[in-house]
Amino acid sequence: MSVLEAKGLVKRFGGFLATNDVSIGFAQGARHALIGPNGAGKTTLVNLLTGVLRPDVGTILLEGRDVTGLPPHERVRLGLVRTFQINQLFSGLTPLESILLAIAQRIDRKGDRWRPVARDDEAIREAVELLTRLDLESVMTRPTATLAYGKRRLLEVALALACRPRVLLLDEPAAGVPHGERDEILNAIALLPREVTVVLIEHDMDLVFRFAERISVLVNGALLMEGTPAEVAASRKVREVYLGE
Ligand code: ADP
Repeated sequence: MSVLEAKGLVKRFGGFLATNDVSIGFAQGARHALIGPNGAGKTTLVNLLTGVLRPDVGTILLEGRDVTGLPPHERVRLGLVRTFQINQLFSGLTPLESILLAIAQRIDRKGDRWRPVARDDEAIREAVELLTRLDLESVMTRPTATLAYGKRRLLEVALALACRPRVLLLDEPAAGVPHGERDEILNAIALLPREVTVVLIEHDMDLVFRFAERISVLVNGALLMEGTPAEVAASRKVREVYLGE
């Protein structure tokens, strides 16, 4: 059974069909990549899944529950989490403070519980453990703004994990990261717990093929094909799209 499933999604911007009858499912524990050329509709699909956009037609189910009408924060509460983007990080806070804030939000999303959590041994232990797992331990008490770009990208993943996701959407985690530092991102992703279903949207095909067990290819707003990495790599249709063969 799919943990997250979209049925017949359609999204138009004016007369432009950005999402054209997309049905897609992500299996429990999957390592699933979503690829496609620029303008294929990947970001629109992610925005529909996370609730940033509402579909004109179609349904989104999270663990069998219809979440199509729910706003993003309620989907986060149900376990559907997208990585924070770098420009959404609190640059004046340290990684440790940021993670404690995310844990506080998870524990009590109604009130400002950051200060109590900052003195809560269990929360601090969880935050340090998470930061260590993502190789951020050595920089966890520095202001986030002073961190290297690759470390800030790892912090995005750490923040998403602090929300305890059931499904984690990784939106181009390696974008802007120099090639030499990309392994660090891939290693961090490889360490994500298996009970978390991971959906990767990424341009770097090397990263995609090293990560994914399943790949969906989106072109012109529609699903072109879905299969194993070997099936996608062997697909003539996919080669035509990417190489213009
Ligand atoms: P991708 O992430 O695969 O590059 P996008 O989902 O960003 O693709 O965009 C798909 C198409 O939808 C593009 O042609 C883009 O110009 C268009 N589009 C995306 N968002 C909007 C919007 N808010 N208004 C109008 N057109 C949009």
